[in-house]
Amino acid sequence: MKLKNWLTSFLREENSKVYYLSLNSSIKKGSTLKRLPDLLELLSFHKVARPKALTAIKMHFGERGNSSYIRPLYIQRIVDYLKEKGMKPFLTDTNTLYAGHRGNSIDHLHCAHDNGFQYGMIHAPIIIADGLWGNRSVSVEVNGDRIKNAVIGEAIADANAILCVSHFKGHELVGFGGALKNMGMGCAAKAGKLEMHSDVKPNVNPDKCVSCGICMEFCPVDAISMNNKKAFINQNNCIGCASCIAVCPNRCIQNSWDASPYICMEKIAEYAKAAISCVSPACSFISFITNVSPQCDCYGFSSTPIIGDIGILSSDDPVALDQACLDFVNNVPWHPTYKNKPQGDKFAILANGLDGTVQLSHAEKIGLGNRKYELIEI
Ligand code: SF4
Ligand code: SF4
Repeated sequence: MKLKNWLTSFLREENSKVYYLSLNSSIKKGSTLKRLPDLLELLSFHKVARPKALTAIKMHFGERGNSSYIRPLYIQRIVDYLKEKGMKPFLTDTNTLYAGHRGNSIDHLHCAHDNGFQYGMIHAPIIIADGLWGNRSVSVEVNGDRIKNAVIGEAIADANAILCVSHFKGHELVGFGGALKNMGMGCAAKAGKLEMHSDVKPNVNPDKCVSCGICMEFCPVDAISMNNKKAFINQNNCIGCASCIAVCPNRCIQNSWDASPYICMEKIAEYAKAAISCVSPACSFISFITNVSPQCDCYGFSSTPIIGDIGILSSDDPVALDQACLDFVNNVPWHPTYKNKPQGDKFAILANGLDGTVQLSHAEKIGLGNRKYELIEI
């Protein structure tokens, strides 16, 4: 099935199917780990992929010092399942724009190794998709409202199939990060990431800044200086990576919530469409609603999760999957640590009103999937 037909099939369907595996387990039912293949069996990517498909497991290995990322044992189970299906899985991600321990392939591989993703553990090789320095890429035509040609990491563009494995959590730049973010931002080579971030330029609230200088340490392009003992961002040098927003202990750096982050969200949806088109229709999605941290796994720290663990969801439709994950998060109580927060869209509350659902509405508009879904517990 060509991409156009696959997208049209989503448009025709009233609801997309989202499968849900709870964390309840027993000897009789089997553990969540043992039952994980039941979720994968319901997906279509392994049924439509060519024999012995080189299969990218698109994931995030977690920054050094972070502890919210998906546990390697689950990835091992996925790898073993794909091998049983005759596929040839490899784990992949792209290098980051910002300062950290994943900005080139060598640092990235060391970080993944130290976070538990060793061959002996996961039974598959890791290939950083955009090469040693983040510049190995393939131009993929998307012809969207925001993006004409996406810059996709070479190993992802060259794969025969993709299983997108996401950790659903908050994100300071786009509200929340799930399947669309993992495919959109996460499959782009550095030039693509820069293209998506280029409209985002944060500012410091000088009244709240205590001059600690932490933001300056994390800025990858030295765009922040001290001006009258207050941090100041040079808008001409800033590349919009959002690191400073996440690390400021006083939460005094914010995007101006005009068009900028919403343009970034639309670009992410169009990049996701480009990455999916590389292997279409052999692309499916699985998301973990566990350790739902307020920030993404790119930071060298983790905060207390905002809710209790929910389980694992899967779908052939990334939009339906993200919508279902968001609904789960918003329909359970806050973790006691956040007990003073009001009810409502938790990620919007955490991000000062930023509406992350623009990712979903734009993805739906460009035919990437449906926000309406049918939840099927297995
Ligand atoms: S991290 Fe925040 S408080 Fe510290 S200097 Fe930067 S803006 Fe000011
Ligand atoms: S000022 Fe902030 S958003 Fe801009 S490049 Fe530096 S860390 Fe990234």
